[in-house]
Amino acid sequence: MATQTQDDVDEVVPGREWASELYRIANDQFDRASSLLDLDAEFVTRLSEPRRSLVVNFPVRLDSGRVLGLTGYRVQHTLTMGPTKGGFRYGPDVSLGECAALAMWMTWKCALLGLPYGGAKGGVRCAPSELSVAELERVTRRYAAELIPVIGPDRDIPAPDMGTGEREMAWFMDTYSQMVGHSVFEIVTGKPVVLGGTTGRREATGLGVVYVTEAVCERIGLDLREARVAIQGFGNVGAVAATELYAIGARVVAVSDHTAGLVDPDGLDIASLVRWVEANGVLDGYPDARRVGSADVLEVPCEIVIPAARERQLTDENAPRLQCGMVVEAANGPTTPEADAILRERGILVVPDVLANAGGVTVSYFEWVQDHQRYSWDELDVQERLRRQLRAAFGRVIDAADRLSCDWRMAALSVAIERVSEAARMRGIYP
Ligand code: GLU
Repeated sequence: MATQTQDDVDEVVPGREWASELYRIANDQFDRASSLLDLDAEFVTRLSEPRRSLVVNFPVRLDSGRVLGLTGYRVQHTLTMGPTKGGFRYGPDVSLGECAALAMWMTWKCALLGLPYGGAKGGVRCAPSELSVAELERVTRRYAAELIPVIGPDRDIPAPDMGTGEREMAWFMDTYSQMVGHSVFEIVTGKPVVLGGTTGRREATGLGVVYVTEAVCERIGLDLREARVAIQGFGNVGAVAATELYAIGARVVAVSDHTAGLVDPDGLDIASLVRWVEANGVLDGYPDARRVGSADVLEVPCEIVIPAARERQLTDENAPRLQCGMVVEAANGPTTPEADAILRERGILVVPDVLANAGGVTVSYFEWVQDHQRYSWDELDVQERLRRQLRAAFGRVIDAADRLSCDWRMAALSVAIERVSEAARMRGIYP
């Protein structure tokens, strides 16, 4: 048999394990930023693929007695910066490739914000809306138990993401605590306040979107109170951002969720919409606005579009039709590279996800610090620190955009990649 060489090993397509549309997007962004930085090949290799991933298959007993087989994931992108951090999501299309892309973005987000974490992301492929509360609890507890080999308060700290929230974090924390025999609040962030959560975490992502938007508006000389805003998504991020913008005096002319899009060029009454959703669960049926399709809100004439729903919402198909001056990416990965190029060409400013939605993980960091210190901050303290930290990160993005003559996405990623590769260089390679 012929001797195999390292060249034969390289025949395996790098990244094949993560193949997915979202991973293609994350990698395209990483490739562009690392070329811009002329990043040493060593760090391209060390950062382009996740360090660790766990795929678990586990059974869950449904209320009917039937057993459902589920697949869950946890991907840790880099172990260089400290423990890893990132949410876990429940959804019918959660996959290893999606988690890998989202974990990579978490690395850049944490590095840009100066948080002492590498990125991670996880999830369970399931349809949460079809599961009862008791079934969701069993899914969450079993998923937490399956992750024991890779998580820990100083190893990997999960948090909420799509389809998960405080309730799931409480079950997760309880399961981990039962396993180690004492309460470990700092195993997860985004918990209810009474279980070691922090004030302000629930609102943090949406509030952060508004703080970043304010800073951007100051920079470009746009009065936010005069601006028209369209928001796709009315969940934990979109509804909070809408409420805050409405409180500031901005005109929110369109909102949507998966059931409906609502438009009013004079401005929607967000307080009344929030009450409607509290009572009815979804936007569908709200009487006081013109109804359009969910995705149509992205194309409404306005100054600021905020995609705050899913990934890959701005594509080469709809990007030419946008009628705004600025896109603030509240969701992770809402813009495909093709749409990004079109927006750039059209002179539409894009405030990248790793900056715009970093409020969530920043306040998660505050929660983890408070848990470790057994000392709670008040809400004003959390908000002021959040605002300061996001503004400082925006300042770094502006500086890098000037220094490298690039758009804000490339600037944000460059700041992050420089930081992580510098740390990787200093740590060296073991052994
Ligand atoms: N899932 C959120 C994100 O995408 C928050 C993660 C965290 O708080 O650790 O940024």
